[in-house]
Amino acid sequence: MPRAGETDGRHAVCEACFEDTFVGGPFEARYAIAEQPADLGWCCDVWDAGGFAHRLALKGDWASYVDHLSRRGLMGACDGQFKMVQETRWWTVRGMEPNSNFHICELCYMDMFKDTRWEGVVEPFADQGVSSERCCDWSPSKNLNLSTAISAADRRKMGAEEFRRTIFAILSKPACGGREPLQDGRYYSLRASIPNFDICESCYESYVVPLGARQFFADTPTVVPGAGFCCFNRAVPQPQYFPRFIDAVQSGDWNLFLERARIAASLTSLPLPPCAGIDAKQGGRWWGWPDCTICEHCYYTFAMDTKFASEMPLQGMVGGAEESRICSLFSDGQRRRYMDVCAGKTSLEQFLGFCRERAAQWEVLWPAIQRLQVQVSNTYWRAQNLRILAHSARMGNAITFGSPGTTYNSTTTGRQYNSFSGVQAEQYDAEAAALERMPDPRAEQAGLLAKWGEWE
Ligand SMILES: [Zn+2]
Ligand SMILES: [Zn+2]
Ligand SMILES: [Zn+2]
Ligand SMILES: [Zn+2]
Repeated sequence: MPRAGETDGRHAVCEACFEDTFVGGPFEARYAIAEQPADLGWCCDVWDAGGFAHRLALKGDWASYVDHLSRRGLMGACDGQFKMVQETRWWTVRGMEPNSNFHICELCYMDMFKDTRWEGVVEPFADQGVSSERCCDWSPSKNLNLSTAISAADRRKMGAEEFRRTIFAILSKPACGGREPLQDGRYYSLRASIPNFDICESCYESYVVPLGARQFFADTPTVVPGAGFCCFNRAVPQPQYFPRFIDAVQSGDWNLFLERARIAASLTSLPLPPCAGIDAKQGGRWWGWPDCTICEHCYYTFAMDTKFASEMPLQGMVGGAEESRICSLFSDGQRRRYMDVCAGKTSLEQFLGFCRERAAQWEVLWPAIQRLQVQVSNTYWRAQNLRILAHSARMGNAITFGSPGTTYNSTTTGRQYNSFSGVQAEQYDAEAAALERMPDPRAEQAGLLAKWGEWE
């Protein structure tokens, strides 16, 4: 149940944040439980990646706290896009050469640095007055993992100076976190040598060093020629190694992580083979139940850490080249139904029964949808081709091929042409028009897709 502040309707705080920061704090009495209207979406106004609003709330100055919330609300999230220089104030990492042009926007400064032990790590950016636009290099959109590195440094209670050096180390390596592969990347492998498990230099500097896990990795990186991906890159579909790494660091049980990392050796590919969605897939590897097959992609990116993962009768079964299956857990609806089972809201039997019916519906609907798809493209392409043929025939008509004085009559319109191509052009056009007049198969197809949608 969210709480609305005294500012009345201007901002609201979620239950979790209220418990975390406000209970027992200076502003506890300023909040009252508020009923969220069913037709309105509320978001928590004190949430920010670095917890600045929480820090401010603990200081007890209501006026500046409320002022911050309204200013923060107007700013939105830092998107790393270019802004006019005067639009915001800019910071940089202390000791950074001004010509290295590393900027931190006011939003990221407040969230990550202001009133924290890291405040001294940054300083206002000395205005060079050269460019009129700047973008924030701290933004999560830059894939530098800097904010996550801050959490790691926080956890380790790292000193400010050491953290400043960490930032420089991260910035000297190629960024990691996008879907683009690294070319001839340099990777650190684990000491407990595990095939295909490697992490890039940026992740090594961002997480391994700040979290004090260096001893588990090779001392020096190795170059892997060609295009490759880092196993800590969460934008790339692969098993969730990173959360296990954090668990292992926190609990001190390194085996927790090694167990997860070993999966890397058995994956079909990195990134994982894409889920075929509504299309049936031949071969592949499958998890789940005979009535609810889960593809490799959906298993490792979604199902692997759920309640029934270890009880599933299918565990990476390799499908024969001739057999085809559909993935039962790619859509939001199916995932929600499955999570309801995990939460004990419905039974596994009910869910598997639904999946059986869903598969039966698919058998009926999908071939029909595909047949219509073929019709859609055939009609469209044939009509298009005929129009092109008509066009070139008409061009041919412009150059007179017929002997002087000879005319050609069109049987359809009775029109006369000075070459046969004119007649041909007219025929092509007529055929194309007939195709274009045919009932559009797309309407019927949309109806079937909507029907299938009820099973997604
Ligand atoms: Zn909140
Ligand atoms: Zn920013
Ligand atoms: Zn990486
Ligand atoms: Zn799938």
